[in-house]
Amino acid sequence: MRTGGANAGRLKRLRVMVAAMLAVPLLAFAQSDLASRLAELRETVRFVPDKGIVALRQIESQARTAPPQHKAEFLYQLSYAQLGLGQQADALATAEELIAFGKSGNDTVATAKGLLAKAFVTFRMNELKLSHQLAWDAERLANTAKDQDLKVLATVTAGQSYAEEGNFPLALARLQAAVALARQARVPLHLTASLVALANLYDQMKEFDKGFEALDEARQLAEEMKSPGRMATVKIAEYALSIDTNQPQRALKALLSALSLERQIGANAMIANTLVNLSDSYLKQRDYPTTINYATQAIEAAQRLNDRAIEATARINIGEAYLGMGRIADGKRSFEAGMAYYEKSGDKPELQAVLMEYGSALEHAGDMAGAVAAYHRERTISNELFEKQRQKAVLELQEKFDTEKKQRQIELLSRENQVKSAEIANRSLQQRVWWLLAIVFALASVIVGLLYRKVRQTNAALEVKNQELKLQSSRDPLTGLYNRRHFQEFMRTHVQVEKRGAGTSGEEIVGALFLLDVDHFKHVNDTYGHAAGDAVLKMIAENLRVILRETDMIVRWGGEEFLAFLPAIPRSGVEDIARRLLTGISAHTIDYQDAKISVNVSIGFAPFPLVPGQHPLPWERAVNLVDMALYLAKAHGRNRAYGVRGFANFEQTSLEHIEQDLERAWRAGFVDLSIVLGGWPEPKPVPRPAPAPLAAPAASEAGGKS
Ligand code: GH3
Ligand code: MG
Ligand code: MG
Repeated sequence: MRTGGANAGRLKRLRVMVAAMLAVPLLAFAQSDLASRLAELRETVRFVPDKGIVALRQIESQARTAPPQHKAEFLYQLSYAQLGLGQQADALATAEELIAFGKSGNDTVATAKGLLAKAFVTFRMNELKLSHQLAWDAERLANTAKDQDLKVLATVTAGQSYAEEGNFPLALARLQAAVALARQARVPLHLTASLVALANLYDQMKEFDKGFEALDEARQLAEEMKSPGRMATVKIAEYALSIDTNQPQRALKALLSALSLERQIGANAMIANTLVNLSDSYLKQRDYPTTINYATQAIEAAQRLNDRAIEATARINIGEAYLGMGRIADGKRSFEAGMAYYEKSGDKPELQAVLMEYGSALEHAGDMAGAVAAYHRERTISNELFEKQRQKAVLELQEKFDTEKKQRQIELLSRENQVKSAEIANRSLQQRVWWLLAIVFALASVIVGLLYRKVRQTNAALEVKNQELKLQSSRDPLTGLYNRRHFQEFMRTHVQVEKRGAGTSGEEIVGALFLLDVDHFKHVNDTYGHAAGDAVLKMIAENLRVILRETDMIVRWGGEEFLAFLPAIPRSGVEDIARRLLTGISAHTIDYQDAKISVNVSIGFAPFPLVPGQHPLPWERAVNLVDMALYLAKAHGRNRAYGVRGFANFEQTSLEHIEQDLERAWRAGFVDLSIVLGGWPEPKPVPRPAPAPLAAPAASEAGGKS
């Protein structure tokens, strides 16, 4: 078995390769200056860490107080030396110290170196994922720095990390870039290291021709440089390529060359590695004693280095050799001792591979039971691994499922949320619309209310105005009495429908018309002035209101003429009223300036309606007859009232005839007049009408009473 099996073997080669680029002859230690010494020590540290660390400790106090770049370089080398001596915890602590130092000083180079150192340590601790990440982080940082050395180192390490991951395209790009960088810088050391790394990658990629080609160039450079360390790395790469191209003899030769080169410089770690690989090579050739010889040497070297992995591999190789030799018990013991390391380290895949080899070796040795047992263990681990992988897959699936479920729930919730927010928005919109409508309605009703009130007020005002107008249009401004127009209106609408009936005494109730005209009124005006005349007219109006009832209609008929319409009085009371009017008005005197003025009136009157024949007279004709009676009163001496009481033998005359001359009709007996005389100072005689059959006695009787 090669160091730690196929995978681990490759890892070992990687480590050696990185170290190789820094190899320098050990004798070149003449420089006093710290930087040069550190540069020289690099190579010692890589190939001979036990010597390197002693040298480092000698300059430690000086380096720790030196400028940052020297301190950083010192810590980097210290970590590497510690790692080379198997002191992983110390190496890790130093790497962390370097990272912290770099970060605290914002020092890109120091930080990148720290990350690289930590990448190497974690790599050895089998924390590959972390190691790769650190290498890539270091590369990113190194690319921003100006340190050419660091750039090549970081690029190579990043490429190897990609190769570890199986990402060959990226790995190839990095390693080719590193070769180009080194070629450009014309640093043979860097170029050799990069070419060796590239050759190893080609081996992995099974591009063996290209691998050997890269290796040829590396060998030439190493020979020119006369560097045993670098030549050893070339030989080890050649060994790997030879094994993989089925050239065991060439592989063995390369390994033996490497061993002698490593021994020249005392590169113990490399020696241990080479020894175990030599034992593997001899094992493959079934040279069991030589296998055991080299493996035993490897164990001694590994123990000095505290490298358990190499020791375990060597023990397994010895175990296999013993089994090949038929020493089954010894073989089993050695095998089990080697496998114990893998069981302890928990490297199940490696253990599984070893168990396969173990079973096969036992089978060849004839220990079928042992072989079956080994295969069983192998199966168990395989199942465990499978189970682990299955569980991991299940967990990943579960996680994925959970994540998707959560995602779905979140989506569902957010959709619900959206729906709810839409609902809320809708509701608030509805509410707003309702509020708006309510406000609009409220405003509208307020406006309508205001308008309504305004209209009502206006209507009321209009009504008042109308009433006023009506009053104005129906009243006489001087006396406040109704005017003639109002009376005409009144008669047209009211009187015609009025019904007559009997009073409480059983006497007939009738309406009556009285037309008054002031006697010699012109004289008043002429004597006292028009204003005095007005005052007299007012006084008369006042008297009329006193004499008559409220229900009676009193009208200013013309200049100094008044008309009274009494709607309901007993028929026998008509003359009485005429008398009260005559005396009531003449009884009042008014004081006007220094004068006392009194007036008489003449009155014409008649009951209303007047029914000369079959039909009652229209009011206009009735008033006309009353006016004619008034004329008679004037003509017969004034301060008196003449009333038309009734008609007789109407069929022998006509209304027109009567209207032409009332007095003649009266004398002819067609009309019955009653006469009421006013009192003092009316002295004028009443002319006696000619005797008439019906009317005259009544008239004289009335006249006689006064
Ligand atoms: P008679 O006895 O015949 O009625 O004599 P009279 O003076 O009253 O005669 P007439 O009817 O012709 O004259 C009426 C006068 O009344 C004429 C007019 O100047 C006067 N008069 C009419 N209206 C008014 C008024 O409103 N105020 C005043 N002061 N005088 C008026
Ligand atoms: Mg007159
Ligand atoms: Mg008059």
